[in-house]
Amino acid sequence: MSTDSSLTSTSKGELVDSFGRRHTDLRVSVTDRCNLRCSYCMPLEAVFKPREELLTYEEITRAVAVATRLGIRTVRLTGGEPLVRAELDQLVRQLVTLPGLDEVALTTNGLLLAEQAERLARAGLARLNVSLDSLDAERFEQIARRPGLERVLEGLAVANRCGFRAIRINAVSIRGLTEVEIIPLARFCREQALHLRFIEFMPLDADDGWAEASVLSGDEVRQILVAAFGPLEPLHTEDAGQPAVDYRYADGSGLVGFINPVSQPFCDRCDRLRLTADGQFRNCLFSTTEWDARAILRGRGNDDDLARLLVDCVQTKRAAHGIGNLGFERPDRAMYQIGG
Ligand code: SAM
Ligand code: SF4
Repeated sequence: MSTDSSLTSTSKGELVDSFGRRHTDLRVSVTDRCNLRCSYCMPLEAVFKPREELLTYEEITRAVAVATRLGIRTVRLTGGEPLVRAELDQLVRQLVTLPGLDEVALTTNGLLLAEQAERLARAGLARLNVSLDSLDAERFEQIARRPGLERVLEGLAVANRCGFRAIRINAVSIRGLTEVEIIPLARFCREQALHLRFIEFMPLDADDGWAEASVLSGDEVRQILVAAFGPLEPLHTEDAGQPAVDYRYADGSGLVGFINPVSQPFCDRCDRLRLTADGQFRNCLFSTTEWDARAILRGRGNDDDLARLLVDCVQTKRAAHGIGNLGFERPDRAMYQIGG
């Protein structure tokens, strides 16, 4: 890893964009491959990046080290499915040693969690988000276009014993598809003391099937929950960059949250940047431009160049994603290629 001491001059300019938003969270995709084919994310027949185009763990660690010196405090590993990349715990181990980085988290579909949870916890992984859209094996397969429910549940059970700071469940909400999953998922999470979050369907599916009418809004899901379980009390969070609106069940049986990027965009408090598996910085999920960190990492620049690239990336961040606006343009890449 490069240790460029002149970086301190660049690092004085923190990652604040032209709208005053300070960026402290970096989503790092480690692969575009996946062992599921969720219809809202991937195509059935996916073409993946050649392995040599993906950043190595050393390159990722170097990029994160530079980002950390510019103010990034939390990293979330994602993909594709991050656990299909060999020895992910080795990357976690490298990242947690970086000065200034408070926390490394992971978003996973959970299929390989039973085998890897303990190693990841020992490596220093703090938090887990496990994506789970259905508790019915057939429906799971219908949505994910591959089987796997049993393995996810087994993975969750193992992870629960590993001492992670937090485990959350993420479920995507799609009208006409996921309504029937809401109550079983909520019941399961209440029983297991798991924090469930519903995410609105975003126009990032590879099959281009998204339509505004297919977004089942967080408010609609919340009403379904209230009808089934009684009142929900809003929780007030200290974390301004937190996109979720969380609630407490008034009967004391846990938390449930809503990430509503379409019906209630939170762009004005966005603190996230992204690094794709093939080494491109992005300032938004919906960015149509990328900043080529890999070219610098592979020999054509030093850490100062990398820092400048990231600062440039932040400087040109748009005020908002613009979903629903006339002229909204979907990015060329789908969710699994960007890193959710
Ligand atoms: N494979 C891992 C997983 O599924 O958790 C990590 C990557 S996945 C792209 C990250 C998250 O993005 C998952 O929770 C998934 O449900 C969500 N996601 C994927 N496509 C989406 C879409 N079009 N709209 C909203 N959320 C989406
Ligand atoms: Fe794979 Fe995650 Fe996309 Fe599903 S959401 S296809 S598990 S990357």
